[in-house]
Amino acid sequence: MTKKKDEHCAFCGRPKSETTLLVSGMEGQICNFCIEQAKLILEEETGSEFQAPDIKKSVLKPKEIKAFLDQYVIGQEEAKKVLAVSVYNHYKRIAQKNDENDVEIEKSNIVLVGETGTGKTLLARTIARMLHVPFAIADATVLTEAGYVGEDVESILTRLLQAADYNVSAAEKGIIFIDEIDKIARKSDNPSITRDVSGEGVQQALLKLLEGTDVNVPPQGGRKHPEQKLITVNTKNILFIAGGAFQGIERIIASRLRTNVVGYAFAGHNDEVVDKNHLLQYVAPGDLKKYGLIPEIVGRLPVLSFLNPLSKDALKRILVEPKNALVKQFIKLFDMDGVELSFDDEVLDYVVEKSIEFKLGARGLRSIVEAILMDAMFEMPSRKNNQKLHINLNYASKKFGKASLAKLKAAI
Ligand code: ADP
Repeated sequence: MTKKKDEHCAFCGRPKSETTLLVSGMEGQICNFCIEQAKLILEEETGSEFQAPDIKKSVLKPKEIKAFLDQYVIGQEEAKKVLAVSVYNHYKRIAQKNDENDVEIEKSNIVLVGETGTGKTLLARTIARMLHVPFAIADATVLTEAGYVGEDVESILTRLLQAADYNVSAAEKGIIFIDEIDKIARKSDNPSITRDVSGEGVQQALLKLLEGTDVNVPPQGGRKHPEQKLITVNTKNILFIAGGAFQGIERIIASRLRTNVVGYAFAGHNDEVVDKNHLLQYVAPGDLKKYGLIPEIVGRLPVLSFLNPLSKDALKRILVEPKNALVKQFIKLFDMDGVELSFDDEVLDYVVEKSIEFKLGARGLRSIVEAILMDAMFEMPSRKNNQKLHINLNYASKKFGKASLAKLKAAI
């Protein structure tokens, strides 16, 4: 028996029983699936308004955001908390209806201070994983003032536009991570930075983005030239997260604290104990200014947090705990060849110690494990399946001894 024509979607052919809704037209019917598909096509073609997520329904609360970060980032509790709150507020701001009488929620850009390899980029990347807004990472070291060799600050927005599939309204509500912001500090205030030329100029250019303005962006990146069609992006609602090692900033913090401590002592409040080994936790906006960021930039990055240097214990946890921990990754790699890989606990301690000894930090962990397993990764796949490979300290130190330190350093 042939089915009646009106029982099917004219676009995908689904029978009515497999749909929630069939809408009738003059010549046929369309199902709910095809309506949604058509809506997406329409949005893509016309670049329609970006719909901010409904924060009551779909947006994770700060505690949930932090719990998500916990799965990937070890320690750094303070920074995770600050980020979770800032990202949540960012959602609230972009979900706000444009009512003239309403209180306008201003954005709070963030700056994260911490040694390299402590998880700043990882935090930003992990946030990106769970977000439903476009996200881009930019490296401040390649930025220069317009006219110099390097990238104009607009290139940051090109990247965001690309991440948003050129949906301008989506990009205008996105998040940008600017790495190594400390490298564009003014030289005069900061003897440890060797490169200057454009430091302050770049900061001025960056300031415009942070303040919120219309920027003409070359859609494919590169230099602006007269023939290129530019896309105007307003940066008012883009959340900026900046990160930097600010090497040597502890000295600035220490000298400020010393004056403060004296002040407190006179006032009779000298009961606050300063943890001299972890000075970064006391970092304040004024320290960033002293370091060489112009006051206007510091003012536009009102949320300031820090990342701790990674302890032995933290490094060991990084090896095994995160959802995509190194050890888990290698176990999976071997498993794909039918090899059951396992490690003695001492081996993990050994990897951590070597990473500290050679000052490779968290980034070095992978190269060290890789060096230990290289011969096995070469040989095992050609052997029969269903084998076991247990790595003990003796095996690890023998294999690691063969690896060249120069090569390890180059790999990170
Ligand atoms: P930064 O941006 O601070 O220089 P990254 O985030 O790039 O450092 O860290 C380098 C690598 O080290 C990461 O990809 C990750 O594998 C590891 N790592 C660093 N810090 C952590 C951390 N706190 N938790 C888990 N892994 C980390």
